[in-house]
Amino acid sequence: MTEIAANLKLVRERIIAASSKRSSEYSYFEPRLVAVSKTKPAESIIDAYEAGQRNFGENYVNELVEKANHPDILAKCKDIHWHFIGHLQKNKINKVLGIPNLYMIESVDSEKLATSLNNAWPKFRMSEDSRLKVMVQVNTSQEEEKNGCDVKDVLSFTKYVIENCKNLEFTGLMTIGMFGYDLNNGPNPDFVCLKQCRDDICKQLALNHEKVELSMGMSNDYEHAIELGSTNVRVGSAIFGERAKKPASHN
Ligand SMILES: *Cc1c(COP(=O)(O)O)cnc(C)c1O
Repeated sequence: MTEIAANLKLVRERIIAASSKRSSEYSYFEPRLVAVSKTKPAESIIDAYEAGQRNFGENYVNELVEKANHPDILAKCKDIHWHFIGHLQKNKINKVLGIPNLYMIESVDSEKLATSLNNAWPKFRMSEDSRLKVMVQVNTSQEEEKNGCDVKDVLSFTKYVIENCKNLEFTGLMTIGMFGYDLNNGPNPDFVCLKQCRDDICKQLALNHEKVELSMGMSNDYEHAIELGSTNVRVGSAIFGERAKKPASHN
């Protein structure tokens, strides 16, 4: 077994264990594991794929485009599902929408971006009725430098996506949250906040809770996030190993 396969096995076991600790209101789903492969080479992705992993996340446009079009990945990972989880600039939309096997954009955080994606999608979709899956990214930690829409705007923004972006399929809410939160201080407030946002929009927009996903939890807190109802955890270093630091301007 490769090291990546062994790591994946461990993460999956922990996901199952955490899932069994959830309150029964969550028993209708098993959380999805998105393997975040940023900065890691194609071979690592293929290793994980061959160990059964299907969902992968990238947060830099150029890197996603390169990997999704990599000949070995195209040949060996035919059923790969790509999640874009990074900040998306309008001028890069076409690059992302053009990749093979795009599954979801988890990081839609403004009406402008949603409108542009909605307008662009018909040029890329494989069939007339296919809608682009999107999540609304929320800045739950309300830090200036973080991406995501403001908590106070989640309702109006989600309503906008549902009512005005007919080529998009609203699938849920995503947060990154504050780094280094100490779980000894109780439930992570970012996760609690995201869940509260879901409760609000479900109530106000008459949406079914089970149809609104929560993408939250990374390597250091995915089990905790699952216990709080995460449907989609984004795990990088626990699967692929630590990353080397990248220059901030990379994209
Ligand atoms: C890098 C990244 C992750 C994964 O981080 P790890 O701590 O390595 O698990 C998850 N979500 C987003 C948006 C990321 O950029």
